[in-house]
Amino acid sequence: MIHPLTPRISQTTNQPTSRRLGFSYHTRMAVFTDTAIVLNRIDFSETSQILVFMSKEHGKVRAIGKGTKRSTKKRFAVGIDLLEVGYLSWSSKHERSETLATLTEWKQIRMFGGLREKLSRLYSAQYVAEITARMTEDWDPHPELYDALFASLLDIGNAEEPVDAVVQYQLALLNATGSLPRFDACQRCQRSNDLSHFSSFEGGMICRHCEAGQVEKREIGGETLRRLQGATSSTARIGPFSVLNYHISHQLGREPMLAQKVVPSSKQRLVE
Ligand SMILES: [Zn+2]
Repeated sequence: MIHPLTPRISQTTNQPTSRRLGFSYHTRMAVFTDTAIVLNRIDFSETSQILVFMSKEHGKVRAIGKGTKRSTKKRFAVGIDLLEVGYLSWSSKHERSETLATLTEWKQIRMFGGLREKLSRLYSAQYVAEITARMTEDWDPHPELYDALFASLLDIGNAEEPVDAVVQYQLALLNATGSLPRFDACQRCQRSNDLSHFSSFEGGMICRHCEAGQVEKREIGGETLRRLQGATSSTARIGPFSVLNYHISHQLGREPMLAQKVVPSSKQRLVE
């Protein structure tokens, strides 16, 4: 069933203000539809929320959902849950508008049920949603990242230990946003052996011959490096998460809020 959340565009053309101004409101609004995943919800007023979606074809979309928060006398609230997948319809004055879009319809397709069965899964999924919302631009299409996000939520929802699925997604996100570090060679002298430290500023590994001259750096263990270089046989999980989270924190200017819930800071300093 499709739930109407706000008046359709055809209804808004009948607004007296539009007629009085002598232009058709209709021609200035465009309606978009796409498959999307709910990344964030922020309360906006008594009844409305600002919702952040990752859509498949249009990238990140921020939209105001009127009446999504609770029912009013006139309207039944349509609860929109974090991390669910659905068909999204929204209207916007024009494509790539910087302003908030208006949510017009939401039809849930699926939920990742397993996410709510374990707290570690839920925190991991919320972390994944948080870094997606903060690392991507509005209206910047990343179909491959949408697919990676979907796959990651599916994996996390089934995982006993979800950190590995999070690492997989951190790599996909950094790749999609053009911020993937180089793990194959020292970013100062280009040698491929004796790699001992990671520098976010340099955008990758630093070897032990160059590290003394590098102020911003963190030590990285052999198993962690193997995992980041793509070895699936590596047993490191916490190390790769910590290094990528460190890099993401540098990109964002502060650490993602959920990072400590995925791996506590005491464990993040572990060199494995
Ligand atoms: Zn070097």
